[in-house]
Amino acid sequence: MFDFTLLINAVYVISATLFILGLKLLSHPSTARKGNLVSSIAMFVAIIVTLLDKNIVSFEWIVISIITGSVVGGFAAKRIEMTSMPELVSLFNGIGGLASVAVGWSTVLGNSDLSIFVLFVTFLALLIGGVTFSGSVVAWAKLSEKIAGRPLVFKGQAFANVLLLVLVCLSAYLFITEPTLLTWHYLVIGLALVLGVMVVLPIGGADMPVVISLLNSYSGLAACAAGFALENNLLIVAGALVGASGIILTNIMCKAMNRSLVNVLTSGFQAVVKNEMKIEGEIKPLTAEDAFFVLEAAQSVVVIPGYGMAVAQAQHALKELQTLLESNGAEVAYAIHPVAGRMPGHMNVLLAEADVSYEQLFEMDEINARIDSFDVAIVIGANDVVNPAAREMKGSPIYGMPVINADLAKNVFVLKRGMATGFAGVDNPLFFKDNSRMIFGDAKETINTIIRQFAD
Ligand code: NDP
Repeated sequence: MFDFTLLINAVYVISATLFILGLKLLSHPSTARKGNLVSSIAMFVAIIVTLLDKNIVSFEWIVISIITGSVVGGFAAKRIEMTSMPELVSLFNGIGGLASVAVGWSTVLGNSDLSIFVLFVTFLALLIGGVTFSGSVVAWAKLSEKIAGRPLVFKGQAFANVLLLVLVCLSAYLFITEPTLLTWHYLVIGLALVLGVMVVLPIGGADMPVVISLLNSYSGLAACAAGFALENNLLIVAGALVGASGIILTNIMCKAMNRSLVNVLTSGFQAVVKNEMKIEGEIKPLTAEDAFFVLEAAQSVVVIPGYGMAVAQAQHALKELQTLLESNGAEVAYAIHPVAGRMPGHMNVLLAEADVSYEQLFEMDEINARIDSFDVAIVIGANDVVNPAAREMKGSPIYGMPVINADLAKNVFVLKRGMATGFAGVDNPLFFKDNSRMIFGDAKETINTIIRQFAD
């Protein structure tokens, strides 16, 4: 019978190259869709050639799994609201971890003839996969408010974690020396699940995006370990790519929040930092109608979107306002903070949906360098990412986090519904600054009211 091994590995090399190309394309909004498509095609082709492997004994379950997975995935992707994307990503990470646990489990089950190396990587697949699964479930529950989103800390937590680590090391030894004993499988998986919960429970507030990105990286590492256990080259490469890109993103997000990863993982965000803020000044409300007069006279406007823009789905109205401002002779720029919204790239996706040109989107550092030259800064549903307390108030929990310095623009219009805090639960002195005006109401309705004034 024809040996497909060479063909399979050749296709794996092509797929791996396409994954890398896909990642490269994903790094810019204008090519991101293409990147997604290229990577998906590479994965599809890789799955098809894997099915030629002579070790596959039954196709029934594979076909059933592919159909079920595709239907559930397609349905979830279609139905999900943009604002719930982090929850979905969390679940995807968790399912990735669970898959690695399943692979690890099936590798050892009924196979007493495995090398120490295979046993070790299988242990890693079970451990990292288990941590990813339970950690992601807790992250999902926190983000979807099924449990409290704040850091959950209890007395003796550090001791419990050290004890867990000792038990994990012990379980590794027992698992590798006596792999046929099911008790050790259960022990490793049980410990991994508890560890995942313990790692994510003390994290909350504005640190959650970092954790999701980290869990994404773990799911890649678990898949990589599973790839070694199965001796599947593509799974090793794909897992390593996910692991590496996840950790790079985690690092970028930590930098954007001015935190170290160790600090994120070891300190309950609000639990450890004293909030010594005392905000001075008063709120100055403005009607959308009055805001129109200032905007009509403005020569340059910078729009700073945040999570509230996503909630209000105000991106299309915003684009309409941009066109009106531009035809009135004003320059319009958009300032994008790396953690604005609820997932990396959240604002970019929404603005792209409304056909805002990529050339008009500026990263935080670029815009901060010249923000004082703008006549008006429109802060639309953003809060934490424009909080000057990060710069000015040493006692603030977000002190040191790089933010967009909206308060340095000549005039600031803050569009939000009330005085609620943002994701980090921290008060915002921007709202009280002399040059700030609060335009209360749903962001989309406010923008539409301003647009109507332009028409009159
Ligand atoms: P924030 O969460 O800080 O603030 C959003 C603001 O939008 C709220 O204060 C709310 O105020 C307002 N808002 C809500 N609905 C509307 C509406 N319909 N119209 C007008 N305003 C509205 O958002 P930012 O984008 O500034 O900051 C993102 C935060 O989320 C950061 O703390 C970040 O760390 C965290 N995060 C980021 C993730 C990411 O990857 N990007 C993932 C998870 C968390 P009000 O209710 O008064 O209207």
